[in-house]
Amino acid sequence: MEEFRAEPPDRGAPESLLVVAAHPDDIEFCVSGTVMRWIADGTRVTYCIVTDGDAGGYDERLPRQAMADLRRAEQVHSAKLSGVHDVRFLGYRDSFVEPTAELRRDLCRVIRQVRPRRAIIPSPEINWKRVADLHPDHRAVGDAALRAVYPEARNPFAHPELLRSEGLDPWIVPELWLMTGPTPNQYVDVTTVFERKVEALRIHTSQTAHFEDLAGLLRDWLAEHADAGGLPPGRLAEAFQIVKTE
Ligand SMILES: [Zn+2]
Repeated sequence: MEEFRAEPPDRGAPESLLVVAAHPDDIEFCVSGTVMRWIADGTRVTYCIVTDGDAGGYDERLPRQAMADLRRAEQVHSAKLSGVHDVRFLGYRDSFVEPTAELRRDLCRVIRQVRPRRAIIPSPEINWKRVADLHPDHRAVGDAALRAVYPEARNPFAHPELLRSEGLDPWIVPELWLMTGPTPNQYVDVTTVFERKVEALRIHTSQTAHFEDLAGLLRDWLAEHADAGGLPPGRLAEAFQIVKTE
């Protein structure tokens, strides 16, 4: 019997994409291969990073502000390698993120400025299978970004100052992709860009230098996704849950 698939395979590159993430390096772990493939097909991409990752790293002697500066620099450098030149930081404190009205407004602002055809955000749901996905900042950013995409960015009466004072018209993001969620329904083949994805992750030296076999770890994880998505053996994939928002 043929396996049931809720979604057709690989949706292809959108005209524009906004990726929202909690920390510098989240994008490189979870979605950079997909981003590289879409950029090759002409997608215009913006990254929005909510915290500076100032609670990250392994060097206890390094002042936290220096860590934040380092991680911003790592993120900008790594994004460039993937072909992304528009990286925006919201400057929230690492490990203290809540889906406040302030954060939702800041995300709405970026959505209305960028006007993306597709957005990728963290899932607001818990994925019990992977310890890295348990970080509460990921879910808080997912929750805030979900509310910003629907309904706030499209509603002129939500955060009215954005329209009134900044002239930012409402914007409907037609398609939302969730990363790191427990119930993926879309798998993007990233085999051809795997080496560059690993390279982009290595640029986050403060976070990845201690991994003995970063490439192997990543390969195993992406092979699991490919297998779950029914791709042929030897392929590697990133996993998403697609949500229609209109
Ligand atoms: Zn993270």
